Amino acid sequence: MPFTSLKLHPSLQRSIKELGFPRPTPVQAEAIPPAMAGRDVLACAQTGSGKTAAFLLPILQRLLDKPRGRTRALVLAPTRELAAQILEEFNAFATHTPITGAAIYGGVGMGPQEHALRTGVDVLIATPGRLMDHMRAPYGKLAHLEYLVLDEADRMLDMGFLPEIRRILRQLPPRRQTLFFSATMPSEIANLAKEMLREPVTIQKQRQATPAAGITQAIYPVAQDLKSSLLVHLLSRGDIQQALVFTRTKHRADRLTRFLDRAGVKAERIHGNRSQAQRTAALAGFKDGRFPVLVATDIAARGIDVEALGHVVNFDVPAVPDDYIHRVGRTGRAEAIGDAFTFVSRDEETDLRAIERAIGRPLPRITVPDFDYAARPEAALEVPHAQRIAEIRARKREERARAAIKAARHAAAVRRPGQPVPHTVSPAHGEDRRPGPGRSHRRPHGGRRRGPHSS
Ligand code: AMP
Repeated sequence: MPFTSLKLHPSLQRSIKELGFPRPTPVQAEAIPPAMAGRDVLACAQTGSGKTAAFLLPILQRLLDKPRGRTRALVLAPTRELAAQILEEFNAFATHTPITGAAIYGGVGMGPQEHALRTGVDVLIATPGRLMDHMRAPYGKLAHLEYLVLDEADRMLDMGFLPEIRRILRQLPPRRQTLFFSATMPSEIANLAKEMLREPVTIQKQRQATPAAGITQAIYPVAQDLKSSLLVHLLSRGDIQQALVFTRTKHRADRLTRFLDRAGVKAERIHGNRSQAQRTAALAGFKDGRFPVLVATDIAARGIDVEALGHVVNFDVPAVPDDYIHRVGRTGRAEAIGDAFTFVSRDEETDLRAIERAIGRPLPRITVPDFDYAARPEAALEVPHAQRIAEIRARKREERARAAIKAARHAAAVRRPGQPVPHTVSPAHGEDRRPGPGRSHRRPHGGRRRGPHSS
């Protein structure tokens, strides 16, 4: 189903196109039409399902219908990181519309947030505690609210926000549309949903328990330091033509991409340090076949929908079995046959066994006949943290020793009999230790920036 069939406003369709989203995710396909029609929605959806767009797009659509000037939509989220991330996605969707948004959370000044409330910003994205602080003031009453979203409701309850949520609800206009999203649905959440929603459309989008049939899964035992060479080998043999390759860290994603580049394999990467524009370009290049390899960290890759993707390569074993199932689920969709290869070094065997338990069977181990498993290891993709610290300490020790010798020589050269020993000059002398204006600068709140926890 293409996005066009959702009949979203042309300015929203334009942003979606620019973001490179090919089609709605399942939760979007199910939630957007009833939400656009004004129905309440109760959705069981995890991070990575595309849930944010599932509530932002219908709200934007409805806000575009009528005149503006008052806060009409409120999204409640459990953490400031999530609120910042939702605002970022909101800004991306709202680029070609006049609709405005702001985030309200603790740990930053109240002033700009008060200003946003006073000027009637269209959409507020808030954590419950800080919002309550504002709602006590006359300017924070939200008397014209029409749309309410609870995002990650289960997490909000886990974090003890239920009393605040109830207090906020009591103050909001009772006639409103509510969209309720939660990854899990324990009875406490179900009860809260029942209280808050009127004849909701219910959507269940739990993660599937095992990867889809049609996926060939295989394990490639290999030394940690030979993983990059093995990937190049499998690509050059034609065992893999196109692959989404997952690494554990951003750093490893960068290093692996460089390694592939040196080996003549065109690759791009997406992770949290890459801008949305870079990610979109990388994804587009991968989809139209310009790069056979897309290297990604797990979080950045969530929501990627690459149709009939041939291969997923777990360059590192996912630490959580669920992540394995989720990643592997990207291949073999729509009855396509896909392969999921997992590179396992000796120290990752325990994590692998947990995955095998979760999927209920052992996975076949493959040894590649013409790969040199005894080859001299390539340069390690990352120096272990402890080793890095030890190296820095050793270097500093050497520098100090050298400086001491130099100082002693200098002292011996300049000292004349009967003269006092000169003072050593502190390296801090002459340095301006005060923070410069740039360093004390605080980022304006509510702007288009990534949340601090981004992957
Ligand atoms: P969420 O589940 O809302 O946290 O979304 C996870 C990621 O998927 C985000 O980075 C979104 O930008 C991305 N995303 C959302 N909808 C789509 C879509 N239809 N196609 C591709 N990516 C999407």
